[in-house]
Amino acid sequence: MATQFPDTPKVGMVSLGCPKNLVDSERILTKLRSDGYAMSADYAGADVVLVNTCGFLDSAKEESLEAIGEAIAENGRVIVTGCMGKEAEVIRARFPGVLAVTGAHQYEEVVGAVHEAAPMPPNAFLNLVPESGLKLTPRHYSYLKISEGCNHRCAFCIIPALRGDLVSRRPDAVLREAEKLVAAGTRELLVISQDTSAYGIDIRDEPRMWHGREVVPHMTDLARELGGLGAWVRLHYVYPYPHVDRVIPLMAEGLVLPYLDIPFQHASPRVLRAMRRPANDVKVLERIRRWREIAPDLAIRSTFVVGFPGETEEDFQYLMDWLEEARLDRVGAFRFEAVEGAAANALPDPVPEEVKEERYARLMALTARISAEKLQAKIGRTLDVIIDAVDAETGRATGRSKADAPEIDGEVHLRDAGHVAEGDILRAQIEDADEHDLFGTPVIA
Ligand code: SF4
Repeated sequence: MATQFPDTPKVGMVSLGCPKNLVDSERILTKLRSDGYAMSADYAGADVVLVNTCGFLDSAKEESLEAIGEAIAENGRVIVTGCMGKEAEVIRARFPGVLAVTGAHQYEEVVGAVHEAAPMPPNAFLNLVPESGLKLTPRHYSYLKISEGCNHRCAFCIIPALRGDLVSRRPDAVLREAEKLVAAGTRELLVISQDTSAYGIDIRDEPRMWHGREVVPHMTDLARELGGLGAWVRLHYVYPYPHVDRVIPLMAEGLVLPYLDIPFQHASPRVLRAMRRPANDVKVLERIRRWREIAPDLAIRSTFVVGFPGETEEDFQYLMDWLEEARLDRVGAFRFEAVEGAAANALPDPVPEEVKEERYARLMALTARISAEKLQAKIGRTLDVIIDAVDAETGRATGRSKADAPEIDGEVHLRDAGHVAEGDILRAQIEDADEHDLFGTPVIA
């Protein structure tokens, strides 16, 4: 146990929003720990509370404001950071008592604000940080952020306005972080960014040396190197650019998980054009078919927006037919919601709320049926499962197959598994399935 000085200031953290924000929170906490701060799990014990906000949708903004209000009521000494930092005036108008407001990725500023609000006493211990940094996810999986920002300008999205254009991290820096995480017990690396397939286009002429080899900053080169580290590598937020075809053989080789998280958002070419989506390729169904020929177990997860302005019944039916053919493994859907500052708000022909609801229900019913059928087909197979939680009393464990990312996809529920441990990767015999989850037992070698 590290010695704790009694007067070491303690920082509380409330992290809202997506995994990308969680990674930012981890970075901030890692820096604060390396500066000697302690963490507080509750409001009462904290000298200052950081609220890392999400401002993507109006509903997320409201949630962020509520979290700030709660932190003010419970503790009173609050610093706000994250996407909502762009709206400092809104925050200050509602909560004049906040100590500081900083924006997304302004690590230096937020850390500086903590130092000001809760100064470190001299001579505190400085070496409290594990090699891999501090993590908010369980030890056995870690999010790995490879770039910030986005060069696209999708009509419904304000992320580029909040986070700026794409800035890729150096490949050697990403690999060094990944290697440390694996050494510290990570068994699954979840690669995230706003647009993973665009990784490196801003630094394409800057290859870096890594373990004596030159690594080009490109998604496929980075994925291959990550695959060599011995952990599962899962790719999120991939757009179906032509070069994505080159990552599929890495899946067949077992270097990268046969899993792609591709936010298609729609299928109708007319709606995709109105959305200004990147990689808007009408041949995508054909490509999915070829991908599955190369990597038959490929699981594709996606999200869709229904009720985008101007979406006709014909467009929606096009999407439904497309989904029937694409047979995606996991689908999330949103009803279109106007986000303050988004270009889509100015588009004509809004879809009435009741039509959005009805389309949403139809889409969810279709994709639940496809998911159930795909899971049924897994009954009787033996699959690799990574264990997330074990209940020693009941002998049950919960894990995920290669087709399931944490938090957003399904789970594999195992019985007779009291002997396994969190982070184990084991073979399991699949005995049953429902719409979202699989059920089975560990295979005893
Ligand atoms: S690709 Fe589109 S939706 Fe995704 S972050 Fe960029 S602008 Fe937003």
